[in-house]
Amino acid sequence: MDRYDAIIIGSGPAGMGAAFSILKRKKDASILMLDKRKYSTGGMRNDCKMNFTFPIGFPLEYWNEDEANRYLDEVTDFLKPDILSKSNISTYQARAERLGCSLLEIRQTHLGTDGGLELIKKLQEMLEENGVTLSLGEEMLSIDNEKKTITTNRREIGYKSILIAPGRQGFHFLQDVMHQLGVNYMDNIIDVGIRVETRIEHYPIVKDYYDPKFYFKEKVRTFCTNSGNAHVVKEQYATERGDIWYSVNGHAFKADESRNNGLVNFALLKTVRFTEPLASGQTFAEHLGLLASLMGGGKPLMQRVGDFRLGRRSKIATFNGDLYDFKPSLDASPSDISLAMPSKILRYIWSAMKNLDTIVPGVLHPSTIMYYPEIKLYANKPEYRDGNFQVCESVFFAGDGAGTSRGITGAWASGIRASEGMIRYF
Ligand SMILES: Cc1cc2nc3c(=O)[nH]c(=O)nc-3n(C[C@H](O)[C@H](O)[C@H](O)COP(=O)(O)OP(=O)(O)OC[C@H]3O[C@@H](n4cnc5c(N)ncnc54)[C@H](O)[C@@H]3O)c2cc1C
Repeated sequence: MDRYDAIIIGSGPAGMGAAFSILKRKKDASILMLDKRKYSTGGMRNDCKMNFTFPIGFPLEYWNEDEANRYLDEVTDFLKPDILSKSNISTYQARAERLGCSLLEIRQTHLGTDGGLELIKKLQEMLEENGVTLSLGEEMLSIDNEKKTITTNRREIGYKSILIAPGRQGFHFLQDVMHQLGVNYMDNIIDVGIRVETRIEHYPIVKDYYDPKFYFKEKVRTFCTNSGNAHVVKEQYATERGDIWYSVNGHAFKADESRNNGLVNFALLKTVRFTEPLASGQTFAEHLGLLASLMGGGKPLMQRVGDFRLGRRSKIATFNGDLYDFKPSLDASPSDISLAMPSKILRYIWSAMKNLDTIVPGVLHPSTIMYYPEIKLYANKPEYRDGNFQVCESVFFAGDGAGTSRGITGAWASGIRASEGMIRYF
């Protein structure tokens, strides 16, 4: 049986951050990185928009500003991002403040889905050149921390320390691992909302600020704005029983005037924190996803703002034409999102839309499409034993699936922080 100083599960930014940090701090360590896919499946592979300003991507329960900035400096030194320029920010900020909202100015770069893939390939090559063993297409199934071994779909492997960073889609897998290790956790927070798609001329702020971060009342915020060659996509999730549901998301390819489709999309999300007696936000989210999928005949829902304002459902026959003058980039079901969405969430989201239309007039054009649901499940909150995200002796978690980050740079920083605990076991 092979045995390594460090096994890293997941080749997303959390896993990458840990691997490069171990190489930097313990050059001769033996490292194995496993991923069930050939290329990581999270944000580096999809859109790859990176934010370099606290608190974007850094959950406040685990990070304070000084600490996050210290790690962000290390992430920045390694990734050397080309920060995008911004203009006219103070005008938008003043308009937002008049409404009791805010616009956060952040340092950001955008590689696009194609640029992200190039980055992943480059990082994988660098790891191999530095002696890291990469096993792609290999899936971790279970762990035995008494024997310090994991079982994968191919073999048993030993470790001195292990980082498990399976991302958001590894949510159930991580919960299985926590059951095997006897680690307590909560998953009581979720983000639920819509993805908005419109023409760039109806949301021209993106020419000044690629991914504007607006914060509205009642914990509603804009998130993950994409423009140029921008597309709404659906991500498939399965409940523990195997029932399929979808969340929408968005991405763009790297800037290339000749391929622009003239569209912009962004999420408007509301954070919901559950208290007793509902223990699992994840289960709640799954029910919302299943309901939308049921209504949409197995697809996410979409509704034109013009229909929504009149209180009528969108229909296939009238979805395009006249004022509804652009084709949706996702094959979703024309429907009535207010039938599927909890009214409290919808009320706050619609209020945020109206505020946004006052700050950036045009976004409520009748043609604008609202897709539902967009759900973010990064709310596993394990009981950590220390500041390095250790859950039990020699086992560490990091990244979006473990709740220590909400974005690529936060995940990378989490991986570095976990690695500082891991190297104590070599
Ligand atoms: C579609 C999409 C687009 C996004 N776009 C952005 C963006 O532009 N900017 C941004 O900051 N954030 C974005 N995010 C959020 C982003 O994914 C995360 O913040 C970041 O990628 C999290 O990193 P991670 O390392 O925790 O997980 P991931 O990047 O998701 O990587 C986890 C990896 O673990 C692997 N894995 C899971 N289970 C197992 C197992 N049992 N065995 C072996 N391997 C396993 C998965 O295949 C995956 O490659 C996006 C997320 C999604 C889903």
